[in-house]
Amino acid sequence: MKLFTRFNKNRDSRPTGFLRRYNILPFSAMVLILAGLSAHNYFSQKNVLLKQLETDNINLVHSFHAALTRFETTRKTVNLQVLVKNISLELEIFEFRYLDRNGIIINSVFQDEIGRTFDRPGFRESLRQPGELGNFYTDNRDMTPVLAISYPVYAGNELVGIIDLAIDISDLNYMEESLRNAALRHMQRDVRNLLKAIAGSVTTSLAVYETLDYFDFLKNFTTTSNNLKQISIVAPDGTIELSSDFLLVNSTANIDGPARVFQGKFMYERGQPVYRITAPLPNLSHGGGHEHTLLMVINASEYAANNHSLLMTAIATTLAGILFAVLIAYSIYQVNIQSAKQERERLEKEVEARTEEIKQLSNTDPLTGLSSRRYLEEQMGVEFKRAVRYNHSLSMLMIDLDHFKKINDTLGHLAGDKVLSEVGRRLGKAVRETDFIGRYGGEEFVVILPETHTSDAALIAEKMRELIAERPVFFEGRPINVTVSIGVAELNSGMTNYEEVFQCADRALYISKENGRNQITCFNAGTAQPPS
Ligand code: GH3
Ligand code: MG
Ligand code: MG
Repeated sequence: MKLFTRFNKNRDSRPTGFLRRYNILPFSAMVLILAGLSAHNYFSQKNVLLKQLETDNINLVHSFHAALTRFETTRKTVNLQVLVKNISLELEIFEFRYLDRNGIIINSVFQDEIGRTFDRPGFRESLRQPGELGNFYTDNRDMTPVLAISYPVYAGNELVGIIDLAIDISDLNYMEESLRNAALRHMQRDVRNLLKAIAGSVTTSLAVYETLDYFDFLKNFTTTSNNLKQISIVAPDGTIELSSDFLLVNSTANIDGPARVFQGKFMYERGQPVYRITAPLPNLSHGGGHEHTLLMVINASEYAANNHSLLMTAIATTLAGILFAVLIAYSIYQVNIQSAKQERERLEKEVEARTEEIKQLSNTDPLTGLSSRRYLEEQMGVEFKRAVRYNHSLSMLMIDLDHFKKINDTLGHLAGDKVLSEVGRRLGKAVRETDFIGRYGGEEFVVILPETHTSDAALIAEKMRELIAERPVFFEGRPINVTVSIGVAELNSGMTNYEEVFQCADRALYISKENGRNQITCFNAGTAQPPS
């Protein structure tokens, strides 16, 4: 709490201005730390999400690789390799390949031409006229005489592929013309029968083979994998060779060369959140052994939603923290203001009390506990004005101890003081609640009697005189006889200030002294004369 109450030290100054509220500093720090923690939490959780996405998709790539390998293996087993063996038992096979209906070499005794387009001169033209296929002809290939045929394979009425076969007939060259022709015819009959058998087998295989199309495979894999939007296989030059989305085939994929490692990137594609993967691909028979890249596009809307909610939580946490800090700072500010205010009020009260105390002290005579001369004069001023304004009566008594000097001189000052305080006590008992009595100086007392005429004042004065004279004052066991002389005066209409009442009372007192002391005298213009 100490941290937040610094300005309280400066008690009288109320904190003003935003920056002067020192609490801004610790609370700014609090808010910063909180924001930092939220940000850190957000980024680490986001990383966990991203890592999860990556792991999931590495697994997906692995399962794709496995599926692809299975697919390729199946593809290879549905081929002519087995058939080649059957034929080669009887004949000297020189070339043997199976082409699909577009002239792509699906299989061949020459492994390296698989996947390429068959480009023997004239073959393309004959593909457009399938009726011209299926005729034997002799040819020379690499200096070798061959009996060749491009044999169409039909499924129903539809051309599905071509078996392209060439048989080495160099042995027949040494025969005599008629024998050679007979042998050729014989061979042609055998081969045609064989090809018929092969074609039957191929057609059966093709029923399976047709389903093993790359496009179908990719499409199928895409639809059966959760969130997978697209798989493409990209050639080293960036061209999409195969894709689950046939519209993408032959377009250019945005990749930087063949992928060497798995790489995933979260991004937006046409406004959709996606995870784009590039990964190396095991050599495809289709790709002719070149390095291909696997490109996968995953629907990452779940990740985006989670990420969004994480971000919102972080922002909400930070905002709540800021709000909380501001509220606390404000409350502490309020508390500080409140306590500063209370402290000020306490001080004000203390000052007031002290002032009152001081005033009380200066209003009181310490020896007798009666009013001081200062206070008496003040009250006389007030009562004088009041009496004049409302035309009320006002009287006063001036009381002086008789031969007091003698007491001091014979018994000492302490005895004098004792007498003074005892006289004060006795006089005090005789006044009414509305009257004022005080020690005017040395051994003189004054009584102010509001609403009192001389007649009543004289009664009070007489009572006072008696109270003093009736019994002695004891000091250290010794009785001291004390008497007082009293002068009584009343305000009259001709007076303009209270000092005039004082003077009249003083004159009356003087007369009491003159006449022998221990008596009262009421002032009236006739009897009370000022001393000469
Ligand atoms: P009188 O009857 O004419 O008034 O005679 P007195 O002796 O009272 O005359 P005076 O007024 O001259 O003497 C006042 C004396 O009172 C003088 C002073 O020594 C004494 N006195 C004044 N104040 C005090 C005080 O506070 N204590 C004591 N012990 N004596 C005081
Ligand atoms: Mg005197
Ligand atoms: Mg005296």
